[in-house]
Amino acid sequence: MTLNDLLTDELRDLYDAERQLIAALPLLSQAANGSALRAAFESHLEETQTHIIRLDEVFGLMTANPAGPRSTGMAGIIAAFRVGAAHRAPLPADLDGAVRDAALIASAQKAEHYEICGYGTCAAWARTLGLDEIAAKLEETLEEEKAADQTLNDLAEQEVNISATHEEGV
Ligand code: ZN
Ligand code: FE
Repeated sequence: MTLNDLLTDELRDLYDAERQLIAALPLLSQAANGSALRAAFESHLEETQTHIIRLDEVFGLMTANPAGPRSTGMAGIIAAFRVGAAHRAPLPADLDGAVRDAALIASAQKAEHYEICGYGTCAAWARTLGLDEIAAKLEETLEEEKAADQTLNDLAEQEVNISATHEEGV
């Protein structure tokens, strides 16, 4: 197995992870109480669609098929979101208000960090292999994942965590 093969496998994991997020982000948005948090999830959903298009371009440049096994890493992170009507153990009803939003931000940041890790690795391998056009696309997405993570961080620290501190439990 070559580093190029390893890169292809890791890109397939990211491709499936992004597709899982397309389904999960609307559920996070529905579960959020604050309008700023809902807007952050919705704008990252749009970016995620761009990430999939970019990965399609990357697979085109590599003349590789994007289909691969399910990203069990991202599946585990999304299962822990506990959002959506289909979830067997949804978030408890008494987890509400800003405390609920603090929990949703924590969950979403785990997904962002998974992606930051994957894109960071793939971009570095692509650079090393001399695949500069591919590396540039991956770095572009990497920066957007980092920015999305930072937006959630700012929202938590400047607003949600502070409100959550002052909320009485239900
Ligand atoms: Zn993404
Ligand atoms: Fe993301």
